[in-house]
Amino acid sequence: MTPATELASQLAQLPDVTVLTNEPMSVHTSFGIGGAADLLVMPSSIGALATAIKVLASGDVNASYIGNGTNILVRDGGIRGAVVKLSGALTGIRRHGNTLVARAGESLGALCQRCAQEGLSGLEFAAGIPGSVGGAILMNAGANGGEMADVIHWVEGVTANGQIQRCPRDQLEFGYRHSCFQDNEMAIARVAMQLTPADPQQVYRALYETVQKRCRRQPVGQPSAGCIFKHPADDYAGRLLEEADTKGMRVGDAMVSSKHANFIVNVGHATAHDVLQLIEQIQQKVHDKFGIHLESEIRIIGEDA
Ligand SMILES: Cc1cc2nc3c(=O)[nH]c(=O)nc-3n(C[C@H](O)[C@H](O)[C@H](O)COP(=O)(O)OP(=O)(O)OC[C@H]3O[C@@H](n4cnc5c(N)ncnc54)[C@H](O)[C@@H]3O)c2cc1C
Repeated sequence: MTPATELASQLAQLPDVTVLTNEPMSVHTSFGIGGAADLLVMPSSIGALATAIKVLASGDVNASYIGNGTNILVRDGGIRGAVVKLSGALTGIRRHGNTLVARAGESLGALCQRCAQEGLSGLEFAAGIPGSVGGAILMNAGANGGEMADVIHWVEGVTANGQIQRCPRDQLEFGYRHSCFQDNEMAIARVAMQLTPADPQQVYRALYETVQKRCRRQPVGQPSAGCIFKHPADDYAGRLLEEADTKGMRVGDAMVSSKHANFIVNVGHATAHDVLQLIEQIQQKVHDKFGIHLESEIRIIGEDA
């Protein structure tokens, strides 16, 4: 028994915490890929999140955090230790003036809908991004010329020793698909976003048009983790990949989408090993043709089989 599974019954007794052991991560990722996590912990309040983190730290068990699993590839050997999943558990949105405060597990989709209902503008760019609020902050998710950093006022997180800490925007080190949370061990718990009053119909229309555009350009119905690579300076990874003739390349059931070359889709029973091999091959093709090394945007976690 791993130290993590030994802690499972202790965690299961906490209020507002659900615990699963030996849980396949393929069920919790949009790629539909990934070996089992020793422990999957789902807290539905910020207090429960802080307590769970303290319990894991006291047992010296490594904790990693996920939201909706739409930007991660979990290796086939799974994850030793605990995965704390916030999406679908730690949810809720409140309005204070023109600020919306959302818990980290809330979906971006629900947040965009709420903006439209409330007549608040600023998050239209995010329509159709399938992640949670926490994942969107960590990644500084963006599209259509906007990014999360544009609207963030503060973020509340839980430190590795279970303390709740509020960080103002200027401490968050936002950059292109980057925030300070990639370099510290905090769990993002709550986020305040400053928005602008607008006509609800206009916000609904902008959300609808953004989603339509996304459906035309991306393989949204197929399992993937979004764009595999970041854009290099002054260029687009998708353009380089397309011109390097990678569309349709395949390893096992992992295939470069024929609709958008920066997406790898799982066309059946792809393994993480298939995806990683394909990533290496297409990286090499772009390097051979353009001399550019594409850097991964997706987060790769866990152990090899
Ligand atoms: C079809 C498709 C289209 C996409 N389009 C876009 C796009 O246009 N723009 C874009 O930027 N992204 C896009 N993505 C990628 C992805 O949806 C975003 O990056 C999203 O913000 C990730 O959120 P998530 O909750 O799924 O995060 P996850 O995939 O669960 O996690 C991503 C990272 O954040 C960390 N994390 C998640 N939640 C927390 C938390 N509460 N506290 C601490 N760490 C946390 C994880 O450890 C991991 O490192 C797309 C993905 C798909 C599948």
